[in-house]
Amino acid sequence: MNVVIIGGVAGGMSAATRLRRLDESARITIVERSGYVSFANCGLPYHVGGVIERRDALLLQTPASLAARFRLDVRVGHEAIRIDRDRRLVTVRDLATGAQEDLPYDALILSPGASPVRPPIPGIERALSLRNVEDTDAMVAAARVARTAVVIGGGFIGLEMAENLVHRGIATTIVEATDQVMAPLDPEMVEPVHRRIRKAGAALHLGAAVTAIGEDDVTLSTGELIPADLVVASIGVRPETGLAKATGLAIGPRGGIAIDGEFRTSDPHIFAVGDAVEKRDGLDGSEALIPLANTANRQGRFVADVIAGRPGTDRGVNGTAIVGIFGLQVATTGWNEKRLRAAGRPYLAIHTHPGSHAGYYPGAGGMALKLLVDPETDRILGAQGVGTSGVDKRIDVIATAMAGGLTAGDLADLELAYAPQFSSAKDPVNMLGYVALNARSGLTPTIQWHELAAAMDAGATLVDVRDPGEHRHGAIPGSMLIPVNELRDRLDEVPKGPVVIHCAVGVRGHTAARILRQLGWDDVRNLDGGYTTWAAGTSRHFHRPRLEQTG
Ligand code: FAD
Repeated sequence: MNVVIIGGVAGGMSAATRLRRLDESARITIVERSGYVSFANCGLPYHVGGVIERRDALLLQTPASLAARFRLDVRVGHEAIRIDRDRRLVTVRDLATGAQEDLPYDALILSPGASPVRPPIPGIERALSLRNVEDTDAMVAAARVARTAVVIGGGFIGLEMAENLVHRGIATTIVEATDQVMAPLDPEMVEPVHRRIRKAGAALHLGAAVTAIGEDDVTLSTGELIPADLVVASIGVRPETGLAKATGLAIGPRGGIAIDGEFRTSDPHIFAVGDAVEKRDGLDGSEALIPLANTANRQGRFVADVIAGRPGTDRGVNGTAIVGIFGLQVATTGWNEKRLRAAGRPYLAIHTHPGSHAGYYPGAGGMALKLLVDPETDRILGAQGVGTSGVDKRIDVIATAMAGGLTAGDLADLELAYAPQFSSAKDPVNMLGYVALNARSGLTPTIQWHELAAAMDAGATLVDVRDPGEHRHGAIPGSMLIPVNELRDRLDEVPKGPVVIHCAVGVRGHTAARILRQLGWDDVRNLDGGYTTWAAGTSRHFHRPRLEQTG
């Protein structure tokens, strides 16, 4: 069997090596346009920053090592320029010599990835984008002499680049056209990220677009001029579909190569995986563009199984992702609240602010977690986490729960590893499950930060059950202070009408709400995530929140 693979990095190389392990006799040829295969694209920003010092650490394999171990015919510096579907031939051009060759295939796998978006801004040719090793070399050379840099785009690659440029001592400005970085996060979850970026010394311009790139500066839509010896364009990526389109393969509604559940394109002999294809959304089955390494690698392995006659089940994708931003871990899976609201899907949101591990054990960091749940079925719809440590573990557990079809209530009863240096006896994931159960059963109904003002306008009394010191440090306008320990003695101060309770993060609020509900108040809600979430969500209108509290 002749198998040709176009693209020799994440999806392509994963397919090639898996196929070899399944089929010793297949002739497997990999065509890669750049000068390198199987390089660590996710590590590239850290080489620019000098965190990964050795360039060759990024080069995981070479054509020679792949030939020796897997008997793969790897052609770097070769571009696939044409596919003849009738004769099942791929025409390949050697980019050094211009020589062309036709490679026959029984199965062809496309894994050409995604290319950086380059908007038509005047001067865009001076902006560098990061996709492969050659780009990295250019970026390292530019960073060596740059004193100032502008990163256009606050997505995960842009933020990784900004962190690494700051790490190199370059005065760096991030310019993001929307009002937040990291689009997968909801607004109240992203606030600590904005603060961390600024605290780390990078300038952050939100709601401003770059309108022109000059010789040593950029102009913003606000009219500001920002010095920029180096300009990085990280505005997003789009599926690389040129060859697929030219070949007449079907393209899906999101602009990626259309595939079926076994990664077959509209031509049964041609398969496609990775950033170039439209995936199936894990929640609603709709077409999704999710350019992530784990997905590309899994799909590469899967397609090799299909070609070798061992089909499996494609679960769809939830877009589980994590990024480190100036010491913060930011992780997401599934849908966010913005998307659920836009789709008109009912949901329950839960915010918690646990410690990464037991507070009495040194080194615990705070985190904000958010869980989105279907109020009818209790299905987990998505989760987000931001914090200094332990976020990765929690989001991965939730992503696993989603894949396994566990409900939000099931999280309460998960048996998770515990010792004080790693977690709490009630892990933050268990706690999310408790809140979900309490809200779902009606034990303690909650109210969201963005619903509070309307509830107060409609006559609800807001009771702050924190300590006076906390209240002095920052309070929600219109709240009355009754610390939880005094509540039973001061019941006469609480009107019998609708009451909203809040504390710092929701834990004492839950206790106070239970006291009132058991003593005859039947319309009591706990402010979900407490003052901390409210302050983060409203900080653009009020004042800077304090997010890393524990109580
Ligand atoms: P790629 O790995 O991009 O491989 C496609 C290859 O195909 C390219 O090398 C290209 O040269 C080649 N090609 C295209 N067309 C042709 C042609 N006609 N002929 C020959 N060759 C061709 N994802 C994460 O999950 N976590 C991360 O931390 C992360 N960090 C990233 C950091 C950076 C800087 C970048 C660029 C990406 C990062 N990603 C990350 C995304 C991840 O790298 C991609 O999702 C993944 O590599 C996609 O795999 P792929 O096989 O679809 O495409």
